[in-house]
Amino acid sequence: MSFELVELPALSRFTVDRRELLRNDAERLGQLWPKARVITVDTRGRTLVADRASRLVDRPATEFGDGPPDDAVLLGEQDGVAYWAVPLAEDETDVAASSGRAWFAVEPTDEPQWLDLRACGALLDDTGAGLFTSAVALFHWHRSAKFCAVCGGGQESAKSGWARVCSQCGREEYPRTDAAVICLVHDGADQVLLARGEGWPEGRYSVLAGFVEAGESLEACVAREIEEEVGVGVSDIRYLGSQPWPFPRSLMVGFQAVADPAEPLRLADGEIAQAKWVSRADVRQALEVSGSVPDLLLTPGASIAYRMIQSWAAVD
Ligand SMILES: [Zn+2]
Repeated sequence: MSFELVELPALSRFTVDRRELLRNDAERLGQLWPKARVITVDTRGRTLVADRASRLVDRPATEFGDGPPDDAVLLGEQDGVAYWAVPLAEDETDVAASSGRAWFAVEPTDEPQWLDLRACGALLDDTGAGLFTSAVALFHWHRSAKFCAVCGGGQESAKSGWARVCSQCGREEYPRTDAAVICLVHDGADQVLLARGEGWPEGRYSVLAGFVEAGESLEACVAREIEEEVGVGVSDIRYLGSQPWPFPRSLMVGFQAVADPAEPLRLADGEIAQAKWVSRADVRQALEVSGSVPDLLLTPGASIAYRMIQSWAAVD
């Protein structure tokens, strides 16, 4: 018995036109600038959101100068309006605005507030979720790609933030994405295998995930990671969907697979603290009222894991 995702994962939503050709068109970008809108992202990866985190608070582009600043990135265009993002410096970051709570414990408020993509990604409207996800991905990359990987020369942003060019050898680099698989393992009936990673809060469980290695296929990675992490073999590996997870640069590729609950679990030392088979009834209850099932707190809404678990739980 297989299943499908009931809805697109939260961060896979995107409504603006990415307009690749516009990125190099300085004349057209100049024409669009007076009406353009800008979101800012602080050094903690947060942006300003309003209306219980359903909406990005953007600003008129003209507040940022007569044209796009050098470190601005073009996110796309919608209805004749260009959307840009600008990174804030450390001294422009309101450290006091941090609630001091973990991102998954943040409560949205009616007042504008600075939130991490993980905290507000599922609450934002479709346009906001897509814009903020791309902005976070691009700024993570710009911060880690200061120097050319071939000659060590300094690199500068180009193509409206979608490339970096080495000032010494001219090599161009594009935003990097690391493929990672994430797999919901079930028994073909009404049990799902969930695990708690080392260092996670007590009671918090999710599905299994891991990075794809060089030269490895996605399906081989699924089988290897599950065997390594919990010691069971899987069959019927099937693709479910994907979503970007720019922390700092993953693309989560979601799968489902079947395993036998009679097979003993053997947990990877230092990686998996606990793993267990959980009934569909318990998962449904834990999704409905967080904390209502002992020792079962599920992953919050912005992750693809949440969408996968929710979709499996919805099967009749
Ligand atoms: Zn170079």
